[in-house]
Amino acid sequence: MVRPSLRFAKTRLIRTPSRTRLKKIDKRTKKPHCSQCGSILHGVAFGNRDKVRKMSRSEHLPTRLHAGYLCSRCLKSAIKAEIRS
Ligand SMILES: [Zn+2]
Repeated sequence: MVRPSLRFAKTRLIRTPSRTRLKKIDKRTKKPHCSQCGSILHGVAFGNRDKVRKMSRSEHLPTRLHAGYLCSRCLKSAIKAEIRS
């Protein structure tokens, strides 16, 4: 049986200038979720890590407080709770 960490990984061969072939593993990534309610975060890039790394910061994350960690609803309630306390 395949190693558990590789069960959801795709392998592909890459040609290099020296004609050697390398196996590259593309791991599937899950959609980013909110840390409080668990809903899917919108506007956050996911998928191929090489593509996401090449994007600029503003392209793969919303430009607001706690972007990539909290959804907009949870952030709204957190700000309200912080102000009221
Ligand atoms: Zn949330």
